[in-house]
Amino acid sequence: MAGVNIRNLCVRFGETEVIKDLNLDVVESEFLVLLGPSGCGKSTLLHSIAGLIDVADGRIEIDGKDMTWADPTDRNIGMVFQSYALYPTMTVERNMSFGLRIKGTPKTEIEKRVRRAAEMLQLGPLLNRKPSQLSGGQRQRVAIGRALVREAGVFLFDEPLSNLDAKLRAELRRELKLLHKNLHSTMIYVTHDQVEAMTLATRIVVMRSGKIQQIGAPAEVYERPDNLFVAGFIGSPG
Ligand code: ADP
Ligand code: MG
Repeated sequence: MAGVNIRNLCVRFGETEVIKDLNLDVVESEFLVLLGPSGCGKSTLLHSIAGLIDVADGRIEIDGKDMTWADPTDRNIGMVFQSYALYPTMTVERNMSFGLRIKGTPKTEIEKRVRRAAEMLQLGPLLNRKPSQLSGGQRQRVAIGRALVREAGVFLFDEPLSNLDAKLRAELRRELKLLHKNLHSTMIYVTHDQVEAMTLATRIVVMRSGKIQQIGAPAEVYERPDNLFVAGFIGSPG
């Protein structure tokens, strides 16, 4: 478990400032949902926390430690992307354990973690299948499992369910909620889906052009938007 504290974060792509002096305290074991229009900087914020891009200015602390310039693998973070490329020639089990094998984690430890993640995600009977033998929802579960075996304190999700149909989304939403309840990890979750935001979030962050417009519990943001932008964005689907 770990909190994330972001201070005066600035991220630039060339001349364009995409994250603008952003401050955010993600409380340990909360489920924080990031909402905002396309291009407002949600993915960029996740990538900064994960260490996948260099920041121009500011500070990122994870679990109280300055991680602004730390290597991604040292950050105690698991990440699930929207497009979850699984290795097509590897079984589910190999896909899930790949990162740990690369790191040289002992075999018995890998087996224990894969078993635990597979159980949580109902992947047990599928461990020997190849990705081509799985449904979309099952593949997405493997992608989540691949992040879970890291047993990180912080999980970053970038629109993980947006490629799935409504029924699978609802099913995985329930699983993510259960997962959070069991793991007590800190979740930072980007979505366009207001139902996901309402059902998963302990707090919602509404962003606009690299800045935070409002942070609050779902009911608070929906019922008492701070400004017209938040009201308009929350009121309209997607
Ligand atoms: P969101 O995830 O909220 O849709 P992004 O964080 O992906 O937004 O993008 C924020 C802005 O930064 C957009 O204007 C996008 O075009 C720009 N951007 C994102 N990644 C890059 C990059 N690697 N190089 C240049 N511009 C980028
Ligand atoms: Mg994005």
